[in-house]
Amino acid sequence: MPNEAPTAATADVDFAALLHAEQAGLQAQLTELGFADQGSGLNYDSNFADSSQVTAERGEAERLATELQEALDEVEAALERLEAGTYGRCEGCGMPIGSPRLEAMPAARFCIADAVKH
Ligand SMILES: [Zn+2]
Repeated sequence: MPNEAPTAATADVDFAALLHAEQAGLQAQLTELGFADQGSGLNYDSNFADSSQVTAERGEAERLATELQEALDEVEAALERLEAGTYGRCEGCGMPIGSPRLEAMPAARFCIADAVKH
């Protein structure tokens, strides 16, 4: 066998564990912000007081929470691909994504070459 780049299939890494850890971390951050992951969209704590000061802070928190939620969606989509057996394959060119990239970004959908196009 020639020197093939390691992929999700050949790497000695538990990507499911990496993804679950990332998922737990993101959920904890959302909870800390006062948002809970409901599976779809954000659910803000309605106890939040309503003043302009709070509204500004809330806007900031909502922006951050939206980013966290998007990252969480990516992680959950990656877990689904893991179950479907398509994890670690670039959605652009269909080639396996190198495991060093997946270790750094377990939810990556694209290889490095395709990532710059999306
Ligand atoms: Zn690609």
